[in-house]
Amino acid sequence: MNIRQYTLSTLALCFLISIIYGRINQAKVQPAKVHSYSLNAIADKENVIPMVIIGSGPAGLSAALYGARANVKTVIIQGEKPGGLLTETSYVENWPGRRPTLGAKLIDDAREQAKSFGAILVDDSVKSVDFSTWPFVLYTENGEKIRALTVIIATGARPRMLGVAGEQEYWGCGVTSCAVCDAPFYKDQEVVVIGGGDSAVEEALQLATYAKKVTVLVRKDRMRAAQSMQDHLTRFGSVAVVYNVEVQRILGDGVQVTGVELLNNQTNERFVMPINGVFLAIGHDPSTDIFKKWVKTDGQGYIKLTSRTQESSMPGVFAAGDVADSRYRQAGVAAGDGIKSALDAKAFLDDIGFSTAVSSRVSHAVREEQKEIVSIPAIITNDDFKREVEKSDLPVVVDFFAHYCPPCMRMLPIFEAVAHEYVGKIKFVKVDTEIGVELVERFFVRKIPCLIVFKDGQLVARYNGAMNKDELTSFIEKFIS
Ligand code: NDP
Repeated sequence: MNIRQYTLSTLALCFLISIIYGRINQAKVQPAKVHSYSLNAIADKENVIPMVIIGSGPAGLSAALYGARANVKTVIIQGEKPGGLLTETSYVENWPGRRPTLGAKLIDDAREQAKSFGAILVDDSVKSVDFSTWPFVLYTENGEKIRALTVIIATGARPRMLGVAGEQEYWGCGVTSCAVCDAPFYKDQEVVVIGGGDSAVEEALQLATYAKKVTVLVRKDRMRAAQSMQDHLTRFGSVAVVYNVEVQRILGDGVQVTGVELLNNQTNERFVMPINGVFLAIGHDPSTDIFKKWVKTDGQGYIKLTSRTQESSMPGVFAAGDVADSRYRQAGVAAGDGIKSALDAKAFLDDIGFSTAVSSRVSHAVREEQKEIVSIPAIITNDDFKREVEKSDLPVVVDFFAHYCPPCMRMLPIFEAVAHEYVGKIKFVKVDTEIGVELVERFFVRKIPCLIVFKDGQLVARYNGAMNKDELTSFIEKFIS
């Protein structure tokens, strides 16, 4: 066989393998059953929504604005983290037309704007979907079954973990991924931020005003963050960047983090850096697990889109924002995607003949949840603790929170709603960590929100991080006799 024949046969073999591999990959996704998309299918159905948006970050809220403003009944199921990752960043300085504005404020404004046109925001999460039938079916954490004529997936991405020893063990006891929430606990201490992207710079800037020393650990010989972001770091003498290092292990004394074991990937030297806190900022993975069976995704799990539209491989299902964007991942781009997805969904509804007249005959009973809440006693001192917790006949759940912490503020209404359901069975108490410093130190709270359960005055369980309503309910159920 000469070189030409060899090259041709190798190419043919590669071509064959890629076809087989493509088939195997495609086989994982349910074939896009050709739905009839006939409006007769909705005549006898309850709870049919023309446009359902899953996720409430910039993509979801922009889609909701355009859907509702086009006079289409639009429901947005907000998800476990209403507002998404933007609520966890500090100032956003690259939102067109706005001077630097807090991420949470941008989200609040977008939410109010969408609501002003009639979008309905539901405090619930979608736990599974069935796209084998049309209208599409969505099942929620709160037990709702919603039928949707079009679905816009805007579930964003979730923070990545390192996967090294000590990360899980010390989660909330020195390891965290939210500097906005936890930086004040590291006053005058030494911390590291892992990652070289814009998030790592954000975390370092948040920490710089509290910590004695912040070291950003970057695995390459350069940072990926925008130069303008990196330039901000030079304003702080307490921030250093170390390149070519990889975290091998997070070390601790059984209670809290004491250091990180690092590898210099240029010299192969291993060394220990003694520090008190590890802030992870190593990127995100798309939240597509429940959709992968129904729509095509790429090798990294991002939803594949059709040509220049936001439509997925399933007609009637669209995707917007980080869930379908491995390249740009900017809040502004996500908002643009959201707008395009709503325009595409509206065009789809027009194509199948969905009109205002049809809409008026359809049952769409989903309403914004009217939460019943109880007021929760706030405690500050050890004396308060003795009175409200130690002397209580009921088990007590204590929520450590702060007003500046977005996940805490998302969690507080959930805490209040669950407290309402368990009156007389379990007691709920809250500690504002900015003033309840005695209790923060006594129970070594280093990550908020932090829930601690006491029974007969004894600490029986602890959870570092936010929970949705179902998670909180099953967490406390164990302590009710
Ligand atoms: P990125 O994906 O941009 O960066 C992740 C960083 O983590 C990279 O430096 C990557 O290294 C590093 N990393 C990944 N895995 C590991 C690992 N196992 N160990 C060590 N390091 C690791 O994610 P970001 O969250 O920073 O940003 C996501 C998007 O959000 C970006 O588009 C960003 O621009 C945007 N953003 C914008 C902000 C703003 O404008 N204010 C603020 C925050 C985010 P490597 O480079 O070697 O791959």
